[in-house]
Amino acid sequence: MTERTFSIIKPDATRRNLTGKVNAVIEDAGLRIVAQKRIRMSRAQAEKFYEVHKERPFFGELVDFMTSAPVVVQVLEGDNAVARYREVMGATNPAQAAEGTIRKLYAESVGENSVHGSDSLENAKIEIAQFFTDDEIVG
Ligand code: GDP
Repeated sequence: MTERTFSIIKPDATRRNLTGKVNAVIEDAGLRIVAQKRIRMSRAQAEKFYEVHKERPFFGELVDFMTSAPVVVQVLEGDNAVARYREVMGATNPAQAAEGTIRKLYAESVGENSVHGSDSLENAKIEIAQFFTDDEIVG
């Protein structure tokens, strides 16, 4: 089934000029980038986006990191896009990520792990709506 998922190229990756290299892995995996913009995330946006993690010990560090440099927010479209992108990203901890995944190739640590991808179709819809209007997505 054709789906849309939400992606973020995180500050560790934009800082190292890896946007194009990450996008190449995404496109080579058969996912289409149907919306994309580079933004500076505000603290309020980052806190809302990662609300589910607010009780976790790393929450403050995560918000600091996500607001430390520009990010690239994206909508990806393709067959089974949610699960497909999770495969392409690799495990949260790059030390455990499979060969060829974005996190294995580029991530620096469990916190600074280069990309975000929605974990369910329901969350994908919520996350896309946080950063994009319908007319910004051109499928
Ligand atoms: P994901 O779905 O693979 O991104 O992983 P999670 O939903 O478990 O965590 C969300 C994000 O929180 C991760 O991608 C990391 O950026 C960050 N994070 C997770 N665990 C840790 C940790 O132990 N330390 C820090 N600093 N950040 C973490």
